[in-house]
Amino acid sequence: MQLKDCQNADVVVVGAGNAALCAALAAHEAGVRVVILEKAPESESGGNSYFTGGAFRIAHDNIGQLREVLDISEEEARTTDFGMYSESKFLDDVFKATEYRCDPDLVEILVRQSRHTVSWLKRKGVRFEPTYHRQAVKVGTSFRFIGGQICGASGEGEGLVQSQHALAQRAGVPILYDTAAVSLLYRAGQVRGVVAASGQEQREITAGAVVLACGGFESNAEMRARYLGPGWDLAKVRGTRYNMGDGIAMALNIGAMPYGHWSGAHAVGWDLNAPPFGDRKIGDVFQKHSYPYGIMVNANGERFVDEGSDFRNFTYAKYGQEILKQPGMFAWQIFDSKMTHLLRDQYRVRQVTKVEAMSLQELAQELEGVDKTRLLETISKYNQAVRQDIPFDLAVKDGRCTVGLPIPKSNWANTIDTPPFQAYAVTCGITCTFGGVQISPRAAVQNVCGKDIPGLYAAGEMVGGLFYFNCPSGTGLVAGAVFGRIAGTEAARFCKHN
Ligand SMILES: Cc1cc2nc3c(=O)[nH]c(=O)nc-3n(C[C@H](O)[C@H](O)[C@H](O)COP(=O)(O)OP(=O)(O)OC[C@H]3O[C@@H](n4cnc5c(N)ncnc54)[C@H](O)[C@@H]3O)c2cc1C
Repeated sequence: MQLKDCQNADVVVVGAGNAALCAALAAHEAGVRVVILEKAPESESGGNSYFTGGAFRIAHDNIGQLREVLDISEEEARTTDFGMYSESKFLDDVFKATEYRCDPDLVEILVRQSRHTVSWLKRKGVRFEPTYHRQAVKVGTSFRFIGGQICGASGEGEGLVQSQHALAQRAGVPILYDTAAVSLLYRAGQVRGVVAASGQEQREITAGAVVLACGGFESNAEMRARYLGPGWDLAKVRGTRYNMGDGIAMALNIGAMPYGHWSGAHAVGWDLNAPPFGDRKIGDVFQKHSYPYGIMVNANGERFVDEGSDFRNFTYAKYGQEILKQPGMFAWQIFDSKMTHLLRDQYRVRQVTKVEAMSLQELAQELEGVDKTRLLETISKYNQAVRQDIPFDLAVKDGRCTVGLPIPKSNWANTIDTPPFQAYAVTCGITCTFGGVQISPRAAVQNVCGKDIPGLYAAGEMVGGLFYFNCPSGTGLVAGAVFGRIAGTEAARFCKHN
């Protein structure tokens, strides 16, 4: 279907990522006519969701509950410690990561609905599997999952988006590609559709309700500089180029309440020479998340974060910002040969900015832009500070720390003394923004007086209030799915009763 063929629908869903597709599938399930508008061409559709590793964080008390979502073979069950990730641990992790600022009502819904929503997607036909390659460590002959993150979509983000789009197609829900929503039809105090544009054509699509699920503003350099602060316009974008804050702007234009951490973003260590936006052919391999096994230094040759303060699931999303703050906005991650076998696959790709040397002096010479004398001093002091008496153990926060350094390393500290040495250059790669619009527990967009804007729902990245400063890995997709499903169901209900 093209824009010229579309005049009305019961529910218009804006966006074609994970949150939008969950909204569309839920609205369809509720028995209404749905149409999806996607600003990107078909070849680039699926938003940031396409770029993801497909990780979904879900609460579970035992392997039986995990099996509601994941196919786990008997052999895997026998050889793997999946642990338990209770709702209260999940809540704690979000509260802690967000420095206790998150909206408790929304987060509670996210956590309590996490497994049920993913199993709803599974029943619809999306496949999930345990993410051994990213989240499990080998202990003797068995595996142990770390950081509360087990569940992943088969085929990662690409597989997720493809299967969601296929489900929409099978359900007869059209996706209009190359078609952007540009404003909301807001008449007599109610949202009654959207104005959509495709190429030269612009027209109104009337609807009983609209679900906005069209991402944050991370791809918009002007908004990044305006809301996140100086320097953020220079960050690299990890994902889609199409998330320009359109949905947020459309909602604010009709009086929606801005909410959440508008000056905050999820941002990671990302290859220094990665392209300005995500590359769908290369995917997510520019991320560099094995820093807990080494050290990170800036242009002054100094460490600037505690690389081992927690499992990387709980630190990676805030360390991109720390890299952005460093002189020249770059850092080098340094490892010695005792650790390089532990580096994630993304360190072994062709598109990597890497230096290798047989001595620390030689390495210091090779690290472009770094104060060499200071770097050698930093490594020497760091080596002396490592508590060698505490055993190194990847599977737990081992407490193998440094002592006496101004910036400690709290876990997994090992001396950097065994050649060959490797170093990887990173900068800040922005994933998504945390500020957005306020929604009710029923995903209705709130106005500045704290009331529902009739006919308007929102889900996904463009919702504010869930994440501040940081978020645990795998929560973006699950939040999009939970509130997308609620938004679609509620939009359908609204449209039937109005
Ligand atoms: C590289 C990378 C890896 C990640 N890995 C994970 C992970 O493993 N697990 C996890 O939980 N999270 C991960 N995330 C975060 C995750 O991508 C987001 O939290 C989630 O995908 C957001 O989903 P969404 O549906 O809100 O937005 P998106 O998936 O970004 O979808 C937004 C859609 O809106 C469309 N759009 C924008 N403006 C308009 C408009 N005006 N009209 C019509 N359409 C419009 C866009 O084209 C896009 O299709 C990752 C992000 C990146 C970039």
